[in-house]
Amino acid sequence: MTNQYTGGPALLQERRVVTEIPGPESCALHARKNAAVAQGVGTTLPVYTVAAGGGVIVDVDGNSFIDFGSGIAVTTVGNSAPLVAAAVSEQVQAFTHTCFMITPYDAYVRVAEALNRITPGTHEKRSVLFNSGAEAVENAVKIARTYTKRQAIAVFDHAYHGRTNLTMAMTSKNMPYKSGFGPFASEVYRAPLSYPFRDVGIDGPAAARRAIDVLEKQVGAENLAAVVIEPIQGEGGFIVPADGFLPTLLEWCRANGVVFVADEVQTGFARTGAMFACDHEGVVPDLIVTAKGIAGGLPLSAVTGRAEMMDAPHVGGLGGTYGGNPIACAAALAVIETIDRDGLVERARAIGTTMLERLLSFADPRIGDVRGRGAMVAIELVKPGTDEPDADLTRAVAAAAHQQGLVVLTCGTYGNVLRFLPPLSMPDHLLAEGLDLLEQIFKDA
Ligand SMILES: *Cc1c(COP(=O)(O)O)cnc(C)c1O
Repeated sequence: MTNQYTGGPALLQERRVVTEIPGPESCALHARKNAAVAQGVGTTLPVYTVAAGGGVIVDVDGNSFIDFGSGIAVTTVGNSAPLVAAAVSEQVQAFTHTCFMITPYDAYVRVAEALNRITPGTHEKRSVLFNSGAEAVENAVKIARTYTKRQAIAVFDHAYHGRTNLTMAMTSKNMPYKSGFGPFASEVYRAPLSYPFRDVGIDGPAAARRAIDVLEKQVGAENLAAVVIEPIQGEGGFIVPADGFLPTLLEWCRANGVVFVADEVQTGFARTGAMFACDHEGVVPDLIVTAKGIAGGLPLSAVTGRAEMMDAPHVGGLGGTYGGNPIACAAALAVIETIDRDGLVERARAIGTTMLERLLSFADPRIGDVRGRGAMVAIELVKPGTDEPDADLTRAVAAAAHQQGLVVLTCGTYGNVLRFLPPLSMPDHLLAEGLDLLEQIFKDA
């Protein structure tokens, strides 16, 4: 059976629960995991994967899960999407690594050209490739600092930018990301976000002015190299800022020579029903950071931006052994081709419409907010009639979903957000089945 959106892979597109979850084979593997892998690496749902594609993940016990997680917004085009699998196989036969800084290859250049073309804005751009989202965020900061000759970096409440030393400082949430791992990098300042569910009565421009006021009073625009922001927050709770928040911030950055950096690691590559989330409000960032959905699961990330900023660091100042690995580049080119060929921007929008309609129709008083764009949708769970977070209910709903063969993830500063990130190769019948399951779980909870 082929998937109607990608033409493959030949994996039965059904939810199938044939054992306890996790099943016996998974439990045995998990015991070995606990004996061999550092416990700091947690697992959301310890079922061990043997295959995935379309809209399902199949485990070692023969269970088939509907995937509402995409490996955290990574397999946006689907797992082992046909063009990606073919491009990777071809590249792995030709060569696996030379190091682009030693003897380069054209796949890297083609990825840079593609990123320069598809990211917001028609200005002259350059790109540089890395391995992880955090590494790319760090490099965006290096670029902004050399360009502006300033040091301070502004980030926001609820932000998530990664787990390396600089990005831990930029990330907001203590547990589990920061606790015990200090000291953190200096010259990182935090401003209030626009969080429509929790700041009723403050519109987007007003929320931006509130943030700008903090930055002007506590940092000073003349000291600020960059404002780094997720246009829709990911780990922080899928918070979509009120209309006008991002444009107002951007305008202030422009007026004050501050580099505006969009961290689109989670929101990029068709996920939100636009190629990039900035596109929804016509925001053209100076630098844009991408990763996750860029290469169908192969490790790749990028910084793309204004040529004069990107060219500020000296020769040899940017790079890394594996950055822009040829196999990851081949995958990225296939991802971009798949998004275009299969109309996945439109597909994300359609998935979003379906999800928002269905979730709103639950009309459950414990669902305080339904929000998101495209195939990046979340519900925030609260004690009925209040905005008091209900993390226990969130955990219980996620656990029930997992038991019944539906992979969902939680997020949010208060741990009370259920997020839904289906691959865009998800067939309609599985999307509907996953939402039916959730409705029943809320009825039973
Ligand atoms: C996941 C994420 C990162 C970090 O990416 P890694 O590849 O895990 O280092 C940074 N920013 C955002 C918005 C993310 O969602």
